[in-house]
Amino acid sequence: MTGQSRVCEKILSVLGDVIPSGVSLHEPEFAGKEWEYVKDCLDTGWVSTAGKYVETFESMLADFTGAKHAVATVNGTAALHACLVLAGVETGDEVMMPALTFVGTANAAAGMGAIPHFVDVEERSLGLDPVKLDAHLGAIAEITADGCRNKKTGRKIAACVPVHTFGHPVDLDPLVEVCRKFNLTLIEDAAESLGSYYNNRHTGNFGRLSALSFNGNKTITTGGGGAILTNDSELAALARHLTTTAKIAHKWEYRHDQVGFNYRLPNINAALGCAQMEQLPRFLDQKRRLAVAYAEAFAAVEDMRFFTEPDFAKSNYWLNVLLLDVGVADLRDDILGATNAQGFMTRPAWAPMHQLPMYAGCPRMDLGVSDDLCRRIINIPSSAQLVTEIS
Ligand SMILES: *Cc1c(COP(=O)(O)O)cnc(C)c1O
Repeated sequence: MTGQSRVCEKILSVLGDVIPSGVSLHEPEFAGKEWEYVKDCLDTGWVSTAGKYVETFESMLADFTGAKHAVATVNGTAALHACLVLAGVETGDEVMMPALTFVGTANAAAGMGAIPHFVDVEERSLGLDPVKLDAHLGAIAEITADGCRNKKTGRKIAACVPVHTFGHPVDLDPLVEVCRKFNLTLIEDAAESLGSYYNNRHTGNFGRLSALSFNGNKTITTGGGGAILTNDSELAALARHLTTTAKIAHKWEYRHDQVGFNYRLPNINAALGCAQMEQLPRFLDQKRRLAVAYAEAFAAVEDMRFFTEPDFAKSNYWLNVLLLDVGVADLRDDILGATNAQGFMTRPAWAPMHQLPMYAGCPRMDLGVSDDLCRRIINIPSSAQLVTEIS
């Protein structure tokens, strides 16, 4: 057997040791009060955007993350879009973001007429590289009276949206510093990082605003859903206004004072969210135990490593990552084929944004690490409930 096919066999055998076959990448679990709370919505008729579960869900999110305010939205992309608008990003502005991310990050910016500007990531966190961002901005940007300007395109660079990739926090302290230096509003795409901490502080508290997602494959789910987090009370009030059609509160009058969005999370989804939040500590504990079991079992396998949280982070291990060594990166598709054929759902990382047709022409720096990581990452099954099989 060649060294090359050996890594494929080894990965298959470790997966077989740690988890059962026939599992998908990330499955939701409804073992709490989901039925009870959703039934309550149906019984009382409060299924839509007004209802007690929305406020309860928001305060549970604020309590858990330590953010002063949480505003629930219909999904994470909508939350990101609202964050960009609230941060004052305008049509034609550039928004710095990692090339390695889910397309929702770029879509939120491009959908409002802003221009994604792609930054490389670092292998240590799989997220945006603050050192490279600093050097890149130093070369292409100038600070003017109305903020940061791209000298090459003439456009304003308004914001920076780092992503906590697969739940692993990016290196936030230096990133906050770079954003301050270049006058960029920091908005965290924390869609994947509910339950992840940077130096003991929950992610989503470092930016002026941040966005969470509760899509079906995330750590908790509301079916579809998202939230905006902020520690700024004025911004929170604006977020609430903007995401509820900018309607001025009144008993019967319909009067709106700006272009608003119908982004409020319905009560029926929030009911699911409340039940999920009650189980979040257990989900996180199980996901951590699964990651530990993977780390131990994969430690002996050559030509790859199991990705573990950087030293500044405590991660939720949303989607576990195998990182193939450069020398065997060509085997990625064979490994994906073999594992999926054996009933272990695995997946490559998203194609980096600059490789997609609609974003190929966007401004960017050298994206060598993003391209390289994209060839080497394999996501493996990560559901919390898998842990019962190994305890
Ligand atoms: C899931 C996700 C989103 C979008 O969230 P939706 O709720 O699916 O709209 C945005 N960014 C990242 C990094 C995500 O993983």
